[in-house]
Amino acid sequence: MIINKSEFVISAPSVERCPDDNKPEYAFIGRSNVGKSSLINMLCQHKGLAKTSATPGKTLLINHFLINDEWYIVDLPGYGYARSKTTQSKLQIMNTGYILKRQQLCCLFVLIDIRHEQKDIDRRFVDWLGENGIPFAIVFTKADKLTQSRAFSNATKWMNTLKDTWENLPPFFITSAANRKGREELLNYIEEINNN
Ligand code: GDP
Repeated sequence: MIINKSEFVISAPSVERCPDDNKPEYAFIGRSNVGKSSLINMLCQHKGLAKTSATPGKTLLINHFLINDEWYIVDLPGYGYARSKTTQSKLQIMNTGYILKRQQLCCLFVLIDIRHEQKDIDRRFVDWLGENGIPFAIVFTKADKLTQSRAFSNATKWMNTLKDTWENLPPFFITSAANRKGREELLNYIEEINNN
């Protein structure tokens, strides 16, 4: 898929305040600093579209970006980091509300730093998605930080760990915002869903 146009539309504090239309939505979520903003900018080839920074926990709202006037990328607040317990629970309510209620959500991309072992917080989140029947895929980030073979073995090890509770594994992608690895695969996947 070619992205000709990507524009910021709205930052919403709750699912009820998200855009009032029926365009398909593809949301991105992950632990703070996983590389979510960088990945969104890389997909859109639009530097500065999503705000990147070395400070974790800065996306505190549900951000909608309209792509080619046809579908949305949705940047959800990262989990696992917040300045206070109150902020943390507010963000959780916001994310949960969006994920469970948003009819337009076609796929939730769960971002995982490819360098790390499976973390409990990610595993619990993925299991919760499964229990609630949410369509999702795993996106491994920062693959440029490892050799290609190490990146692949880390990703497959992470996925295989799911086999103890999962019968069918979700799709996964290996990406890097630094060298655009995985860009076409992810966009093709989105295009396929849009065309169905
Ligand atoms: P977010 O908090 O999940 O939105 O993460 P950011 O996109 O702001 O990235 C967090 C940090 O990781 C920044 O210092 C980025 O430059 C760095 N980063 C993000 N993606 C990549 C990547 O693909 N490769 C490398 N080497 N660094 C990355």
